Amino acid sequence: EKVYGEGEVQVRAVRGVDLEVRRGEVVLIMGPSGSGKTTLLAMLGAMLRPTSGRVFVDGTDLTALPESRLPDFRARRFGFVFQDFNLLSALSALENVEFALNLAGVSGRTARERAERLLRGFGLGERLGFRPEKLSGGEKQRVAIARALANEPAVILADEPTANLDSRIGREVARLLRRAASEEGRSVVIVSHDTRLKDIADRVLWLEDGEFRAMSEMATDPVCGMAVEREGAPHYRHDGETHFFCSAQCREEFVAAPSRFLQRARRPA
Ligand code: ADP
Ligand code: MG
Repeated sequence: EKVYGEGEVQVRAVRGVDLEVRRGEVVLIMGPSGSGKTTLLAMLGAMLRPTSGRVFVDGTDLTALPESRLPDFRARRFGFVFQDFNLLSALSALENVEFALNLAGVSGRTARERAERLLRGFGLGERLGFRPEKLSGGEKQRVAIARALANEPAVILADEPTANLDSRIGREVARLLRRAASEEGRSVVIVSHDTRLKDIADRVLWLEDGEFRAMSEMATDPVCGMAVEREGAPHYRHDGETHFFCSAQCREEFVAAPSRFLQRARRPA
């Protein structure tokens, strides 16, 4: 549970969430803006202390560790991937990954070689010496994922990792996260409202007002692609199927030309 502030300005951002993630599993947590996704992820990654409750990674209770142990624990056990990449702008692609290794106590040639191998594996062999400003969004996110994987962490935590990427690059990023789970046994937790990420998830959870709700009550708006709660949502029956919308505007657009949106939904990924 996480409560920000006190009294009148108090926000209960996460309320009584219970979640267990296995090795090799990709869990996607979806939910509208402000539902507590980033707060939950920050608590899972020891970047934010819960107001109450505990977080265990491989049997270690993060919430019981003294503040002084957290940076080292984070560096070794977690890989973070953010919406805006969070690369260090003064460092090259190679140095960004190396730096993450240095933080976990791996240095010198070992760090350099491991960083280089990872980046080459991600098709960035020609970009090793480039600073982030010289890289495309997709390249930056691949560097960020290489950095997240560098220390062979138990857990990868990704906050809206595809939000700033076009759909082709978004799929590539999703594939790399899937591989980290399937081939390397990492536990991957992604928070996002990008419905395309459902394809790579073993489980999809829906967070709303800081609590998990059953995903079966959710549908995807065929117009804007947003996940919407079926109950109370504007809907429209077409061709024997009921479609749900985030707003009256999306419903109107759909009703005017259903085939426009249904074709798009059916187009192969
Ligand atoms: P999401 O990532 O799903 O958009 P957040 O976890 O960022 O949601 O926010 C959940 C709620 O907590 C929101 O109401 C937000 O305004 C509030 N919140 C987030 N961070 C803080 C903070 N540092 N101080 C006070 N309120 C916050
Ligand atoms: Mg967020």
